[in-house]
Amino acid sequence: MSKATAYDSLVERQHDIALIGSTQAVLGWDQETQMPAGAIATRSAQLGQLTRIAHSMQTDPALGELIERAASDTTNPDHSCNITYWQRDWERATRLPEDLAVALTEASSVAMAAWQQARESDSFEDFAPHLETLVTLKRREAEAMGWPADGEAWDGLSDAFDPGMTAASVSAVFAPLRSALVELRAAVADQPPVDTTCLNELPDARQNRAVQALMSRMGFDFDSGVMATSTHPFCTNLGHGDVRMTMRKDEESLLTALGSSMHECGHALYEQGLPADFAGQPRGAYNGLSVHESQSRLWENHVGRSQAFWQWYTDEISCEFGLSGLDAESLYRAVNRTEAGLIRVEADQATYDLHIMVRFELERALLNGDLAPQDLPDAWNAQYRDYLGITPDSNATGCLQDIHWSMGAMGYFPTYTLGNLYAAQFFDAAKRALPSLDADIGSGNFTPLLDWLRREIHSHGRLYDPGALCERVTGAPLSAEPMLAHLRRLHDVT
Ligand code: ZN
Repeated sequence: MSKATAYDSLVERQHDIALIGSTQAVLGWDQETQMPAGAIATRSAQLGQLTRIAHSMQTDPALGELIERAASDTTNPDHSCNITYWQRDWERATRLPEDLAVALTEASSVAMAAWQQARESDSFEDFAPHLETLVTLKRREAEAMGWPADGEAWDGLSDAFDPGMTAASVSAVFAPLRSALVELRAAVADQPPVDTTCLNELPDARQNRAVQALMSRMGFDFDSGVMATSTHPFCTNLGHGDVRMTMRKDEESLLTALGSSMHECGHALYEQGLPADFAGQPRGAYNGLSVHESQSRLWENHVGRSQAFWQWYTDEISCEFGLSGLDAESLYRAVNRTEAGLIRVEADQATYDLHIMVRFELERALLNGDLAPQDLPDAWNAQYRDYLGITPDSNATGCLQDIHWSMGAMGYFPTYTLGNLYAAQFFDAAKRALPSLDADIGSGNFTPLLDWLRREIHSHGRLYDPGALCERVTGAPLSAEPMLAHLRRLHDVT
């Protein structure tokens, strides 16, 4: 019998670590969809205990030695991809003291529950102490991870979401994009509202059924995935063959339910398309959060807000809900109407990224100590006036609207905008590769697009870093131009 190689032993150990991560994801899924409020103390202790176990496995010196031995002994590109990311994870884990890792898990579990209640009762004061604790802990985490000499605390956190992403690299993209978007918004500000009241307050059960039918059509595999409802729509992978996604509870309009569901389904299709042979390994994992977001945005904006899609889908929903008088052109205009609004997840394509820029600036200030957590509402409202020309009428529609900071996800928001940029550039490439794409979408046939995404993006996992993947798929480095060109076309602006 041949002796197991260092790589084989490494795979076994990493498999055990990945099992802990996916078990935590199951508990997280349950917390957001089913768990009663009274269980929060037990749940945070459960998650904390699993973090303790995972941390001791991740920082075992024997694991570090195995990684080194495996690295010196491989020429296989799939193995190299795994080793590179495992090395990186090992370094990050060994830099993070165990007490801090556990404190972060427990504090964010409690803060998420507090955020949910504070948002419901519009009471920032109830969330402020949790935010303060999290900012302190995240600042300690950033210090433990370190950041470049010319960088800042934010960089110590962002690297976990998108390797190599820094405040400076994000600012370099955001500054010119911001002025282009402000200019575009001014040019398209006065669009008349479209009357879609017949799509408001349709029965929840039937909305769910319509959404599920569309998900199937897009290619979501219900044998290895589930759809539920939650306060904040999201998608999570609980392990191979188990992708969970949610639509938001209490949607006012079918149009917002469809938009957010196509978004989450785009994430889910990516997870379901990752290479099964490498499940639980970096080679079989999503390629950072920006590329993940590109998949949701591509479906939500470039498919779900296209003229072709509404040519097909208007008849579908007219039949499903027994509605008459819907016309494709009006629905197309309704889903593409721009108006500066308060809520990020409901924002149109021309203003969405301005919401992200507000959050990016504020979390940098929180982490740098330039903004005290209790002053967040005033700073938030001032930024909304400055960037979007509007002022939130409550904290629930202001700084309490997003779950991210309560989860301890700081250094994350810019991946949404980078995802928008990747989405536009990828979709342009898909159009070039599939000349009948528009006609396919116009007849509700999404298979050619999904096949292309599977082949060009999903199947690669983390084999190429996001920049290299973008050049490989589109022939060019990431640029804001494809998205700006898309928005100008959409709104007839030259
Ligand atoms: Zn998303």
